[in-house]
Amino acid sequence: MEVCSQLPVLPLDRPVPQHVLRRRGAISLGTSSALFGGPSPRQLCKRRGGVSYNSADQAVLYLHLLGDVKQRGPGPSEPVRGAPHSHVKVDYQRFHCHQGPVRPGARGLKSHRRRLSFQRGLKSRHLRQRPSGPQHLLDQVYNCQVKCMLDKVDSWDFDIFMFDRATNGNGLVTLTFHLFLQLGLTRLFRLDPIKLRSFLVMVQADYHQRNPYHNSLHATDVTQAMYCFLRQPKLATTLSSCDMLLALVAAVTHDLDHPGVNQGFLVRTGHHLAALYKNSSVLESHHWRCAVSLLRESGLLDHLPITDRSERLGSLILATDISQQNRYLARFREHLDREDLSMADPSHRHLVLQITMKCADICNPCRVWRLSSQWSSRVTAEFFHQGDVEKKHGMAVSPLCDRLSDSTAHIQAGFIRHVVEPLFREWCRFSCTSLSHRMLAHLYRNPYHLHRRDLPASLDHSLQI
Ligand SMILES: [Zn+2]
Repeated sequence: MEVCSQLPVLPLDRPVPQHVLRRRGAISLGTSSALFGGPSPRQLCKRRGGVSYNSADQAVLYLHLLGDVKQRGPGPSEPVRGAPHSHVKVDYQRFHCHQGPVRPGARGLKSHRRRLSFQRGLKSRHLRQRPSGPQHLLDQVYNCQVKCMLDKVDSWDFDIFMFDRATNGNGLVTLTFHLFLQLGLTRLFRLDPIKLRSFLVMVQADYHQRNPYHNSLHATDVTQAMYCFLRQPKLATTLSSCDMLLALVAAVTHDLDHPGVNQGFLVRTGHHLAALYKNSSVLESHHWRCAVSLLRESGLLDHLPITDRSERLGSLILATDISQQNRYLARFREHLDREDLSMADPSHRHLVLQITMKCADICNPCRVWRLSSQWSSRVTAEFFHQGDVEKKHGMAVSPLCDRLSDSTAHIQAGFIRHVVEPLFREWCRFSCTSLSHRMLAHLYRNPYHLHRRDLPASLDHSLQI
């Protein structure tokens, strides 16, 4: 197992040359491996129609229904009574698809293939022309670029977008696997590297890549941010390895199977998840149950006697519900005011972990502008697309979702003022490191950039004069 964990990482959707396979003597080629000649993640998704689960676990019944609403008819629950738009049926698999009508014959696996990255674009033509050529170059190119970036994975300026291109869209698997090694979790908890990789492959596949914002790239970004926070002195010296393990798992799974719309949309359209969770923390509860199901399916933590694992994981994921922020923040602020926050107290430590999870989730405006600007464009695109669908079905457009009256600068200004700034101000009081001060500096500077970007060119020019 030691040998496996040190072997080079390969992208998911390329044929693996035989000589590389031979070099990886310890790798299993069983059907459970999607990495080395096994089914692609998409095929794995389909195959996982029969997810392994305990018969007592009701939650798994709806694990993959988000994508099946159209094809298989109504889900197991009756529509919410009185939901004003329960007649609206949305195919969430294609919800954010902007690629136009699908051509005949292009359906199925081909249409799901990932777009070529710059790296793959350079190499793929060459490989197609010489199928028996020097395929070992794949390993070299991959290792060079990705390894260089992973060496700086603790940098707050880490370019997650470039990393995702360098890994050919497999940033979540590559980065998280590396962080497990980096924190010593793989060795400490005797995690099977193959199970770990299988788990991460399933996690990555269960994010909807067509969502402009809530996709695996966001989860990767949150995981990288979580790692940066875990390295801060107050956390690094007080958290247990078990805390760190759960924090990383929560970060990477916290938006699993996100449909690209908000809770209000699910409630108004009478989605079965809204009924199941009684219109409260609907998405977060679903992400949590999906995470638990994938952990069970992979068997990653089965050998560990961690008590309340599922509940602790759930409480971290549920903390990302922004509508509940004031509740968490009030408790955190009270402790800071009274100066009685003790990291030796497990309940205090868990509250800090919940706040850390919240910070990692909404830290986009605290990143350097060149990264922050890309995130703000993505989240606006997702909001506006929901607004377009609402208009199309004659529904009232949700707040911040109308492309005719809202703008990125307006959306971000409100988000920063009411949500991000209050949270990070308290975080800075608690952490008080150069990183926390730097994040606040970005947070105060980025709205200025945003405002300038949204100005008409002529007005921007006149301001410069
Ligand atoms: Zn999130």
